[in-house]
Amino acid sequence: MRAFRGKTHILIGTLIGLLIIRITKMSLEINTFLFIGGVLIGSLLPDVDHKNARIGRFIPLWRFLKHRTLTHSIWIVLLMVLITKVQNYIGYGLFVGVTTHILADLFSMSGCCFFFPLLKHPQQFAEIKTNSKEEDKIRIIVGALLIIVIGVYALDLAKYLSQGLPF
Ligand SMILES: [Zn+2]
Repeated sequence: MRAFRGKTHILIGTLIGLLIIRITKMSLEINTFLFIGGVLIGSLLPDVDHKNARIGRFIPLWRFLKHRTLTHSIWIVLLMVLITKVQNYIGYGLFVGVTTHILADLFSMSGCCFFFPLLKHPQQFAEIKTNSKEEDKIRIIVGALLIIVIGVYALDLAKYLSQGLPF
């Protein structure tokens, strides 16, 4: 079964993660980096059930699980919520990464078995073809939005640095 590329998931997760940092006005401290680290790992994590995904080579759960079932379900989302009880920022980041991953997959051709094993058929919102020109277009749009958001962050940083100077 086909999957969105890891790159696409990382771009989407990072974009949403950076927007959340800005909207919730998280200050730039170690916790913010823990949060964004969680987002990056979380945006790849569900694909441990895919043989050809890079993360599947490190954690080969694809040997036991069918693609887009348990690791693309409500249960993994709830597991990430539980992790927030252990480490708030990492858990929150993992939650955002995993949720954006599953949402993206729900817009693809094969969908996700979000309520696995209660419902064994996949749910989906749209039928975007993965590994295709359509996915490339999405990546370009998300990449462009990400550049804009990073630009806003750079302006913030410049403003912050200029305020810190005595002239
Ligand atoms: Zn996936």
